Amino acid sequence: MSQKVYLNGELVAKEDAKVSVWDHGYLYGDGIFEGIRAYNGRVFRFDEHIKRLYESAKAIMLDIPLSKEEMEEAVIKTLRANELSDAYIRLVISRGVGDLGLDPQKCPEPTVLIIASDIELYPPEFYEQGLEVVTVPTRRNIPEALNPRIKSLNYLNNILAKIEANRAGVLEAVMLNNEGYVAECTGDNIFIIKDGKLITPPTYVGALKGVKREVVMEVAPKLGLEVKEEVFTRHDLYIADECFLTGTAAEVIPVVKIDDREIGDGTPGDYTWDLIELFREKANSEGYPIYDKG
Ligand code: PMP
Repeated sequence: MSQKVYLNGELVAKEDAKVSVWDHGYLYGDGIFEGIRAYNGRVFRFDEHIKRLYESAKAIMLDIPLSKEEMEEAVIKTLRANELSDAYIRLVISRGVGDLGLDPQKCPEPTVLIIASDIELYPPEFYEQGLEVVTVPTRRNIPEALNPRIKSLNYLNNILAKIEANRAGVLEAVMLNNEGYVAECTGDNIFIIKDGKLITPPTYVGALKGVKREVVMEVAPKLGLEVKEEVFTRHDLYIADECFLTGTAAEVIPVVKIDDREIGDGTPGDYTWDLIELFREKANSEGYPIYDKG
């Protein structure tokens, strides 16, 4: 069966899913996106992801030509057309076709794209052994320039950091903000555990309000962890008892080395293991059913 992609209201074959070179998503990175996961025939935290998509659209003054309900229906339709129960879903809404100038007023029709595909995870050994990461020179965009809470098509800031991680021979980069506080990673939120407290940077530091970040903050009190949104520095990373990242693609992934310093004893921590377990339980039991309705 050939993969079907949703493009502007139609389900088209993967090979025919083409967008104009005049699309401002391509010319200027003018647009927004979401990454969502489905587990066991259920879309996990569907409303939260769709809400964030519409909030990103509002922030960049992009009118999505579908209601939230219609967008959810379009996602379900795409999943069904591809007979998927476990999937990574990518929604992309760009400003649409315009002229060569950057003025969005010249783009009458946004482009709406939904790709649902088999999941791509970090290799399983990283969940068992943990990741090595580095802090990088490229600072996270300041919220006053391009707010990291907007999931925009402008990922060049993160890509520069990713290049620095690649060159250091590791998979992920920790980005600091302009004041030196830890913000987030190129595609994940970051958490540390210190003395029984679970700490993640507040989003105003320069981090996306990650949906998986919220899930972890919800379940952590079950383990007796006190949950805090607090600014912290590179030094706090080095002396953390445990560290892990969260994201739709990564789920919850332990970090065992930062800038050549071992975190804790250099293996994934006990709380991190328990959080991975609690996350997986939730992901496999909750969510919006793809096939049971209508
Ligand atoms: N930060 C950035 C920069 C991201 O791209 C992502 C992935 N969407 C995240 C954090 C994690 O967010 P979520 O848990 O909603 O996937």
